[in-house]
Amino acid sequence: MKLCRFDIPEGGADRLGLVDGDSVIDVSGALDVLPPLRWPVPPGDALVDHLDAVRAKAETLRGEGARFARTAVRLKSPVANPSKVFAAPLNYAKHVDESKSDANLHQNTHKVDFEPGETPVSKLGLFLKSSSSVVGPADGVTRADGDRRTDHEIELAVVIGQQTRHIASAEALDVVAGYCIGLDMTLRGTEERSYRKSPDGYTVLGPWLVTADEIADPSALDFWLEVKGERRQTSNTRELTVGIRDLIAIASSYMTLYPGDVILTGTPDGVGPVVAGDTMTCWIDQIGEMDVPVR
Ligand code: MN
Repeated sequence: MKLCRFDIPEGGADRLGLVDGDSVIDVSGALDVLPPLRWPVPPGDALVDHLDAVRAKAETLRGEGARFARTAVRLKSPVANPSKVFAAPLNYAKHVDESKSDANLHQNTHKVDFEPGETPVSKLGLFLKSSSSVVGPADGVTRADGDRRTDHEIELAVVIGQQTRHIASAEALDVVAGYCIGLDMTLRGTEERSYRKSPDGYTVLGPWLVTADEIADPSALDFWLEVKGERRQTSNTRELTVGIRDLIAIASSYMTLYPGDVILTGTPDGVGPVVAGDTMTCWIDQIGEMDVPVR
């Protein structure tokens, strides 16, 4: 199932949509299955936490919900309230190569060398992005800090489905709710990585959440990113240095994972700057395509 969060231009915010080809069916009535919340709210995303019940109710509403053309709605992040966003540094070999050869990239780490048997993730760990940086494709990316360089990084985003700690790699896909396209936008400079990657809008998730049952093998997905029609990044998730299962296991070894937590799995080579007026078109096999404007 493909579930989206959308606004209708003439009123109606944060609707829940079921994606059906080029249409979005309004199944917001399925949100009624969510429990009422009282302070303090449980950590994580309530919809993802109750995804099975929401899905079952959404399916019953498929025939009666209002239908919109996909192009007529504003798509927001399918995950509204992640407690945290993990990201993997330098997790595609060709991106490590370009980082070492370009001082503009990874100014804090481009001199880091890796011993045989060591990976960037084993040496550097994962990093965190602010959960408040998350937006959807219709929100677009507003560049932070004037004319400083901001780069695109397309990544497969993994959405965790249940509270998890110390999960083994072999079982790690069992706790995945689904997948979406992620953009790990990055301000270039010398500050801490998490700070440069956490301005408002610097994590784009979309165009919808594809539930895990629809993607049998997330480690064999082609993907690409274009800026104004120019192909900048192309790869396949089989090129990941540390794979999806291991990334989940590593994240859960230090922190409790909550429903809706996101793991951005890393970006391949071809990162580059965007400027106001650009549009990033992103595609991942079995997920879909989204346009993201830059302001
Ligand atoms: Mn990244």
